[in-house]
Amino acid sequence: MSIDIKSKWTNSIKTEAKRLGFLSCGISKSDFLEEEAPRLEKWLNKNMNGEMSYMANHFDKRLDPRLLVESSKSVISLLLNYYPEETQIEDSYKISKYAYGQDYHHIIKTKLRQLQEFITEEIGDVNGRAFVDSAPVLDKAWAAKSGLGWIGKNSNLLTQQVGSFYFIAELIVDIELEYDHAVTDHCGTCTACIDACPTQAIVDPYVVDGSKCISYFTIELKNELPNEMKDSFDDWMFGCDVCQDVCPWNRFSKPHNEPLFNPNPDLLSMTKKDWEEITVDVFQKVFKKSAVKRTKFEGLTRNIDFLKV
Ligand code: SF4
Ligand code: SF4
Repeated sequence: MSIDIKSKWTNSIKTEAKRLGFLSCGISKSDFLEEEAPRLEKWLNKNMNGEMSYMANHFDKRLDPRLLVESSKSVISLLLNYYPEETQIEDSYKISKYAYGQDYHHIIKTKLRQLQEFITEEIGDVNGRAFVDSAPVLDKAWAAKSGLGWIGKNSNLLTQQVGSFYFIAELIVDIELEYDHAVTDHCGTCTACIDACPTQAIVDPYVVDGSKCISYFTIELKNELPNEMKDSFDDWMFGCDVCQDVCPWNRFSKPHNEPLFNPNPDLLSMTKKDWEEITVDVFQKVFKKSAVKRTKFEGLTRNIDFLKV
């Protein structure tokens, strides 16, 4: 295939991604993730996935997209901003900013479908598969490999331009495109995220013990919350943003322009007392179509009860 055609396709895909509202788009060759393999194996061997057993499944597929999508040639990574204009009031139990609005899975899947349709119209019969925050794809590794940012000491993808408050999604396709290169790490001597983590879950620079992370406890853990953690949750009732909030690169975060990510206004104004008294009806109203529904009413109230003094 001529370089001209590859470059033309690549440019038109990136332009369309921008038009669809993605922050950025980077592309890598669909190949075995050599550097990630030992890192993932070590992390799993230390049980840092806690009860998230799905993270240990499909080990080979997670490292090699060619096993996921037959004859795949390229991994297209995309970032979608979710940084909100406004956050919750001070006297409140906290929700991770990514979960303020409607469930991102559906919103991003729609955009990916539109990008796929564009590729079919523009290029022809291209076989592809879309992934949004799904276990088999190491999204941060692909985004970093494709030059969209570097993986910071808090294990989030970071950019100098807009920090780290965005979703990562992928489209894996069976055509060759022009490939991007990784950018350099700009964490330097900073340790702000490690120092601020309320549960000391960042056990080493670049290593987050998932089984100690507040996001894991408040969203993934199905059993009772461990009593010894009672004073460490820093009022987080769904997820945790501390290691992102303190990151100096997030001074450059800019509000998103996706109306579906806007929260129900009540979510921003509810006080701790309001949350402690939440009813099923209020839960359904405030979290209509939200990712918070994953925990169900029982899960969220379990977390709130745990935080109450
Ligand atoms: S999300 Fe919160 S608990 Fe998890 S590593 Fe970051 S600061 Fe620590
Ligand atoms: S807080 Fe500092 S060390 Fe942590 S990810 Fe941000 S720049 Fe890197």
